Amino acid sequence: MPPAAAQANDPAMNLLLLDLLSPDLSATVRTALRTLAAGTPRAFDAAAALRRHLDDGGTADLVVLCGDDGERLLVAYGELAAGALPPTLAISGGDSVEAAVRLLKAGVGAYLVRDGDGCWQERLAEEAAALVAPPARRRRPKAEAVDDRHRLAQIVDGCSVATFAIDHAHRVTHWNRACVALTGIAAADIVGTDGHWRPFYPEARPCMADLVIDGGSEDAVLRYYGDKRCRRSPLLAGTYEAEDFFPNFGDGGRWLYFTAAPITDGRGRTIGAIETLQDITPQKRAQEALHASEGLLRQIIDGSSVATFVIDRDHTITHWNRATEILLGRSASDAIGARDIARHVYKEDRPLLADLVLDGADEAEIARYYGSDYRRSASLDGVFEVESLFPDLPGGPRWLQFAAAPLRDASGRTIGAIETLIDISERKQAEERRQESERRLAQIVDGSAVAAFVIDRAHRVTHWNRACAALTGVPAREVIGTSQQWRAFYPTERPCLADLVVDGGSGQLARYYGDKRIHRSRIVEGGYEAQDFFPAFGSSGRWLYFTAAPLRNARGEVVGAIETLQDITEQKRAEENLRRSEERYRLLSITDGMTGLYNARHFAQRLGEEMDRCQRYQHSLALMVMDVDNFKRFNDTWGHVQGDQVLIRLAECIVACLRRSDQAFRYGGEEFVVLLPETDMEEAVAAAERLCTMFANCEISPAAGNSVRCTASIGVTTYVPGESPRDFVARADSGTYEAKRLGKNRVIRIPPPTAPAA
Ligand code: GH3
Ligand code: MG
Ligand code: MG
Repeated sequence: MPPAAAQANDPAMNLLLLDLLSPDLSATVRTALRTLAAGTPRAFDAAAALRRHLDDGGTADLVVLCGDDGERLLVAYGELAAGALPPTLAISGGDSVEAAVRLLKAGVGAYLVRDGDGCWQERLAEEAAALVAPPARRRRPKAEAVDDRHRLAQIVDGCSVATFAIDHAHRVTHWNRACVALTGIAAADIVGTDGHWRPFYPEARPCMADLVIDGGSEDAVLRYYGDKRCRRSPLLAGTYEAEDFFPNFGDGGRWLYFTAAPITDGRGRTIGAIETLQDITPQKRAQEALHASEGLLRQIIDGSSVATFVIDRDHTITHWNRATEILLGRSASDAIGARDIARHVYKEDRPLLADLVLDGADEAEIARYYGSDYRRSASLDGVFEVESLFPDLPGGPRWLQFAAAPLRDASGRTIGAIETLIDISERKQAEERRQESERRLAQIVDGSAVAAFVIDRAHRVTHWNRACAALTGVPAREVIGTSQQWRAFYPTERPCLADLVVDGGSGQLARYYGDKRIHRSRIVEGGYEAQDFFPAFGSSGRWLYFTAAPLRNARGEVVGAIETLQDITEQKRAEENLRRSEERYRLLSITDGMTGLYNARHFAQRLGEEMDRCQRYQHSLALMVMDVDNFKRFNDTWGHVQGDQVLIRLAECIVACLRRSDQAFRYGGEEFVVLLPETDMEEAVAAAERLCTMFANCEISPAAGNSVRCTASIGVTTYVPGESPRDFVARADSGTYEAKRLGKNRVIRIPPPTAPAA
């Protein structure tokens, strides 16, 4: 908005503009001036042209000097000020206190800093109004003297830099609005006093302006400001500048940048001094924070045992810690400042990972240099990690794991990159050894002729060798990685022996294998062996002998189990056949070939056993002895072959008449004995009678058309505990003799003597 006063009172203010501003700013300034002048201000782009215009009688209410370079403004003003000049207002696009002071000292009427938020237009109107004389006095004669005092008051007060002036008696003559704002002390309270030290120091002491008035001897200045980065202005004689921290100033103290310059009269005598002050606390704090964080970063990097280096945005190494020196064999003094480290590390011209990250390389670019050895960090944006072998490091070939991350400033711009490197050679070697031994184990297992499979701690199959595939008919690819090992052996899901070994549960072992002749391995601790018939296995079931042993890690913990399986079906069959044939031979050896009854040898054994049993359990035991009657004559009549038939028929009758527990033996040629356990005399005699009758009624036809009957004589007795086999048999035999004597074809009982013979 144009200031209303300027427009109303003087719609055609005569402005001359000397424009040294950059084009974009100049357009803005022109717009503002046009508003102020309610028309087009005349513009000159060289001070000499403006000077000529004025010298030629050109008039102006105000000359406005615009620029963003203090030095150029000063030169331009110097050219203009050679003659009498209308009031001159300087506008700066920059914000240099020094430039302001120098322009004001050179005689510029007011100095205006463009503050960038737009209100400066209003200030421009104010400054212009203050500078330009009231309408009645506006058109001054060219050489008219200007009221210096009044002009200085306006200059100082209008300046946006905190400024105060003191006279030769050190009394404050000016205390501008910016100074009021900075110190919080009103001009009325301080102008005319010598208390201008109060806002800055706890006790009276000279300010820099005081020292300048007193001659500005370097000794005096240095005494008070020696350690405050105080320096003599290189541009203006007698001027000093310094910065210092004022602990009592403001809230918690402030950093001020201040300059002091002498004010001289026409004869060059110092009649006062002007001091400017700028609060530079925010810059200082930011600088301190930057230093602190830089120092911290350096300490962190240098103190880290992880090899770390940093590059700046130009790819120049800025940090290179001790660990990096050792790992990459290049000293920090060599590395810092260098840009060709990659050549040293890789023995070729190429970027480091940090260089790629700094340049924001995409994955294709990273892959170009690192193949498949890199990966993008899952958690950090723009960070890449690589594992790679470096064959040419000073300490010999090493495996390095390295990561690079971009460094960004507060606005997110990438300003460098940090890379860390870790020597992982030991881990890599261990990994390789482990892989090698795993490969070897896999080969051993796979190459074994014994069917075997391996499961891990989670019961998943890790190995299933060729022999196992052949035995079970289940290929490795179907079972590896699963927990389906049971399918090869059982119709429903249940643990295999290896599963139980992994679980270490002996209770479960009993449940699943209790009756399978399972036993602990005599060789492997925690291992078991068993054999079982698997009805669902193969076409008609198979017998398997299987073992399971735990696999342990270095700490002895069970991490899996190996199970071996052997098909023992054939062996089992052979065993069974052998058992059967042995049984057959045994039977043959105790059997009479012609009659099928037991033979005499077996009788001797059985008799002893039955006598023992009888004695032990107090059972009764009976014995029959029989002899075919007149057999010699039969043989003589019908021949031996027919005689044999008689003996066979008798054996049939014996078997038919006996109980299951009774045992019959062919004792001699045509003599037979029968052992009847748990049988008393009456029962035995009854049985003998039945036998005698059955045999006597048995028709034998030794020749066609002939029917003959044979008879037998039988003696029966019972056992007396304690007596000898010979006595027992002899007593029964005596019964047979007695039967013969009494006419044959009969049964004679011989009761045992009441007391055994002594
Ligand atoms: P006894 O009534 O007194 O017993 O008259 P015996 O003719 O049967 O007389 P003895 O017992 O002394 O005769 C036994 C005969 O049995 C003698 C022998 O030729 C015959 N013998 C023995 N063993 C066999 C055999 O295995 N087969 C045949 N066919 N005859 C046999
Ligand atoms: Mg006989
Ligand atoms: Mg006989």
